[in-house]
Amino acid sequence: MALGYEDTPLLPGGKWTVHDGRRPQPPVIDPGTASTDDKAGRPPSDATVVFDGTSLDAWETSRDSSPARWKVEHGYMEVVPGAGDIRTREAFGDCQLHLEWAAPAAVKGDGQGRGNSGVFLMSVYEVQVLDCHRNQTYPDGTTAALYGQYPPLVNACRKPGEWQSYDILFVAPRFDGTDLVAPAHITVIQNGVVVQHHRALQGPTYHRALSRYVPHPPRAPLNLQDHGDLVRYRNIWIRPLNFYAEA
Ligand code: MG
Repeated sequence: MALGYEDTPLLPGGKWTVHDGRRPQPPVIDPGTASTDDKAGRPPSDATVVFDGTSLDAWETSRDSSPARWKVEHGYMEVVPGAGDIRTREAFGDCQLHLEWAAPAAVKGDGQGRGNSGVFLMSVYEVQVLDCHRNQTYPDGTTAALYGQYPPLVNACRKPGEWQSYDILFVAPRFDGTDLVAPAHITVIQNGVVVQHHRALQGPTYHRALSRYVPHPPRAPLNLQDHGDLVRYRNIWIRPLNFYAEA
C-alpha cells in the first residue's frame, strides 16, 4: 500500500515531495505518564533519566567533581546547604528538560532569600527557582525568570511545599571559533503555563552585571543550585535533541 503520493511537487530543500510516503516515519516512543501532586510521573521511553528518585549516581558536586551530597529521600532530592551546586556527570546541548521542584513548606525569608535554587542549562544559563507565592523581588529574578535578563510572562507559582513542574526547551548557542553564530534560546512551561517563549539569551547568567557570550563546547552538564534553601527536586529527565537538524 502506498502511504502517500509521488505526483506531488517537491518541498523546499528538494528531498521530499508533498505527502511523500517514503519519508522516514517518526520513531515510536512510549510518552510516559504525567505526575500528580503526590506522585512523580513516568518519563518518555527515549528520555535520559538523570534522577528517578532513588540515587544521585548521575550527579557530582560542581565545584570539585566529588560525589553529590544532597539528601535523597521519599523519591526526591533536597538541597543540603553548603554541600554546593550539583551537576550531571553527562553533558547536554539542545534538549527537552523536565523536572519538578518544591519550595520549603515552612516559609522563611523573603525576596531572593525564600526558596532560592536554580536550573542552570549547560551549567551557565539559569532558569530561576524561587518561591514567589506572595513574595516579591526584582522581576528578572522571580520564579522562571531567565535570571538577570527576562522576567517570566506570568507568575504561575503554586504554594510553597507543593510540587511544581518545569518543561524546558533549550537550544544551545552555536559558535564558530570565537564568533557567536546563534544565541541560546529557551522556552519554559511552568505548571503547564508558558512563561518564557523562545527567548534569545544575552549570554550566561550574571548577578548585577551585563552578560556576554564566551565560547564553550556544544555540550555541558545540567547544574542545580545550592542557594542555601531546602528546595526539593524529583523526576528529572532530559531528551537530547538537535533543533538545527535537517527535517
Ligand atoms: Mg537561583
